[in-house]
Amino acid sequence: MFQIVRKSEMAKGTIISLDISAPKIAKKIQAGQFVIIRVNDTGERIPLTVADKDPFSGIITIIFQVVGKSTALMRSLKIGDSIKDVVGPLGKPVESELLTPLKSGTIIMVGVILSE
Ligand SMILES: Cc1cc2nc3c(=O)[nH]c(=O)nc-3n(C[C@H](O)[C@H](O)[C@H](O)COP(=O)(O)OP(=O)(O)OC[C@H]3O[C@@H](n4cnc5c(N)ncnc54)[C@H](O)[C@@H]3O)c2cc1C
Repeated sequence: MFQIVRKSEMAKGTIISLDISAPKIAKKIQAGQFVIIRVNDTGERIPLTVADKDPFSGIITIIFQVVGKSTALMRSLKIGDSIKDVVGPLGKPVESELLTPLKSGTIIMVGVILSE
């Protein structure tokens, strides 16, 4: 089980940030990789990118948009609640010279989805 240690709403009711205790993943995961989350025994598995990690405290951060059943269920979770499965790291890390700490400081990447 993976406990939620922090929750915030980045956009009211629609964009949620969760900090989850997942020490093994926090140690290994790299930029661009994702995890598969299953909230409970009957839940579906959904992929979510890891937005941040702290290998020292063992915390990973996910940020998701509420679009359907599983993300709505995740929105209802509170600090102290647990997620059944968090599997990862999955996917290929981003390869970039920019990600070398000696060449840059903090990098922020922003993606925008435009819809009609
Ligand atoms: C590798 C990978 C990484 C991902 N990382 C993130 C992430 O970091 N944050 C995040 O918010 N999402 C991310 N997604 C998308 C996320 O997995 C889906 O939004 C999620 O599976 C939806 O599950 P649900 O049960 O809530 O919705 P469902 O019940 O599966 O879908 C409900 C309805 O919403 C539509 N829908 C599903 N996803 C989206 C979407 N993203 N935008 C618009 N409409 C959609 C479906 O077509 C369907 O009509 C990622 C997907 C992949 C493949």
